Amino acid sequence: MVQGRLAWSNRITAWYHPTVTHFRKGPALFVFRALASGSSGNAYLLRTDRSTLLFEAGLRWATLEKHLETEGIAPHQLSAVLISHEHRDHCQAAGDLTAGYGIPIYANEKVLRATGLHSERAAAILEVGKTHRFGDVDVTSFAVSHDSVCPVGFVIRVGDRTITLATDLGTPNQEVLDAVGLADLVVLESNHDHDMLRQSRYPSQLRQRVAGPQGHLSNTQAACILVEHVKDEGVDVWLAHLSRENNTPALALRTVQRSLKAAGLGSVGVAVAQRDKPSVRWDGVPRPRQLALFAGEVR
Ligand SMILES: [Zn+2]
Ligand SMILES: [Zn+2]
Repeated sequence: MVQGRLAWSNRITAWYHPTVTHFRKGPALFVFRALASGSSGNAYLLRTDRSTLLFEAGLRWATLEKHLETEGIAPHQLSAVLISHEHRDHCQAAGDLTAGYGIPIYANEKVLRATGLHSERAAAILEVGKTHRFGDVDVTSFAVSHDSVCPVGFVIRVGDRTITLATDLGTPNQEVLDAVGLADLVVLESNHDHDMLRQSRYPSQLRQRVAGPQGHLSNTQAACILVEHVKDEGVDVWLAHLSRENNTPALALRTVQRSLKAAGLGSVGVAVAQRDKPSVRWDGVPRPRQLALFAGEVR
């Protein structure tokens, strides 16, 4: 859809759809992009007027560099990289970025130590629960339940829009539920289908770890969280960190969409962040709602 620009003061810029007037306040440039999502690697890129942030750097360096290049970003243009926890699929290229290009790496102190990045000159601490401003972006981390030293998710605020990024969690704590309830875009783990995991060729110990309270969220768990906590039908959802072995994008999508529809939230926009290539993109502009033709249809 063609988008236009309205400026009604020197300081406030709004972006709107010309057919149905939906605005967002904040920077003119606003792109959030999934570069990869899953146990083979995670990375999300956020570009605004004053910041270019990478959330997770869990790909081989050559792959990450290629994906950034496709987005028109050279590594030295990154303002900072934020890491949620020390598992390799979230941090493996962080050392290349900080040692090779001096890009600041933000994580909490335990995660920095666990990744071995704490001794890097550009390593910086992002305390759990504290908000840090990166240009025109505010990021707050929150604790999640996962089998690593101090895993977190992120609440990302740009202008009047909020993104919640929550993957790698076995059970939702109150912080996760609150963060989902704030968001205009929820990026939520939908790792596995219960039955596929139960019947998988994974050893039983691994099956128990994945399904356990410090493992990964299933499609059904993700659906329940969304049904109970998305703030309204205008929210967009990306299902993330899907298992290659124990899930399919179609199954995750179907499970979540069915539950949302049954709960009267069928207009929530749901998409899947693909595992191994750049996929979904979000510009923060609210989706046009369906307009009622007659007053009696308004609900
Ligand atoms: Zn992971
Ligand atoms: Zn993990």
